[in-house]
Amino acid sequence: MLNISLCGLTADEIFDFIRPLGFKAVHALSISNSIYKKKTSDISKISKIPSKLREELCNHSKSGIYPPAESKVSGDNSIKYLFRNEAGLEFETVYLPDGKRNTVCVSTQSGCRMGCSFCVTGRYGFHGNITSGDIINQIIGIPQAEKITHVVFMGMGEPMDNLDNVLKACSIITAEWGLSISPRNVTVSTVGIIPGVIQFLEKSDCNLTLSLYSPVIETINIMKNFRAKRKRRLSLAYVMVKDQNDTDYHLEKLKSILNSSAIRVNLLPYHSVPNDQIYSSSAERMQYFKHNLIVSGISASIRKSRGTDISAACGLLATGLK
Ligand code: SF4
Repeated sequence: MLNISLCGLTADEIFDFIRPLGFKAVHALSISNSIYKKKTSDISKISKIPSKLREELCNHSKSGIYPPAESKVSGDNSIKYLFRNEAGLEFETVYLPDGKRNTVCVSTQSGCRMGCSFCVTGRYGFHGNITSGDIINQIIGIPQAEKITHVVFMGMGEPMDNLDNVLKACSIITAEWGLSISPRNVTVSTVGIIPGVIQFLEKSDCNLTLSLYSPVIETINIMKNFRAKRKRRLSLAYVMVKDQNDTDYHLEKLKSILNSSAIRVNLLPYHSVPNDQIYSSSAERMQYFKHNLIVSGISASIRKSRGTDISAACGLLATGLK
C-alpha cells in the first residue's frame, strides 16, 4: 500500500486500494461515506470498518482533507478562501450564501493559461493543474461544507484544460457514495475548448455554461445538439464590456446564434482592475441587452455581482489573499 490521499478517489479506486488486504467493497463504501459525507479528516475516526483496516489506513494513507490557508469575508457575506496544496500550488474558492441556496465556486487550476483579456486569473499566469482531491477539498474542506447545495466550476482555471480531474470531481460530487449533490446543481464553466466541451457533454450529466466575450458559433452549435440528447441546463455567461462587445451588432449576432435554442444567457458586468483601460457596460446597456434577448424569445438574466470588495467576483481570482 502506498501513502495515498483518500479524498479524490472514487469508491472503486478505494476498493482497489484495500482489496489486496482482503477487505470488501462494503468497506470501501464506508470509507467513501466517511470522507465525502461525514468529512472525516482524521482517518482514525473512520467508522463502520474493521479495526485492522483502520490501522492499515492510518499507516498507509491520509484523508486528503485540509483547511484553507486564509480567508476574507465580503460585506455581502460571501467568503473567499485561499488553499495551498501539498505541491505548494495556490488557488481560491468562494462561498456564496443566498438564503436556502448556498453555492461554492471552485478552482480547477492554480492560475490559468488561457489569458482571457477580461480576467485577472489569466494575468496571474498558469502555475499548475490541481488534483480531483484538491477540487473536492474546496467543497468539504471549508467550514460551511455542510450547508452547500450548489457547486460551480467558475474559479481559477479553465476546467477543459484539466478535464480528467474535473470529470472525476464531478462524478464524486454527484455519486451516491460521494457528496450526493444532484448534477442539476453542478455547473462547469468553460471558455469553449471544443474537444473538451464534447468530451464533457458525453461523459457528464452536469450543467455547462459557456463564458463568452464575443459570440462564437461553433461551441454554441455543439451545445445546442447535446441539449437535444440530455436533460441538462446549458447557459452562456456573457461578460459585458463597454463598447467592445455590447454594440447592437453583438446583440444581433447573439440573437441569431441562440435563435430557437433553449440556452439561457446570463449577462455579467465586467469587473475592472487597477490600470485597466476597459470598463463594464452600463446597467442601462445590460438591461437593453436583456430586454431585447427576452423579446426575441431567448431566456436572459443579469447576474448580480458578489464579493467585488474582496476580489471574489468572476474574473477577479488571483490569490489576492496573500
Ligand atoms: S476567464 Fe477562465 S479561462 Fe479565461 S483566463 Fe480567466 S480563468 Fe482562465
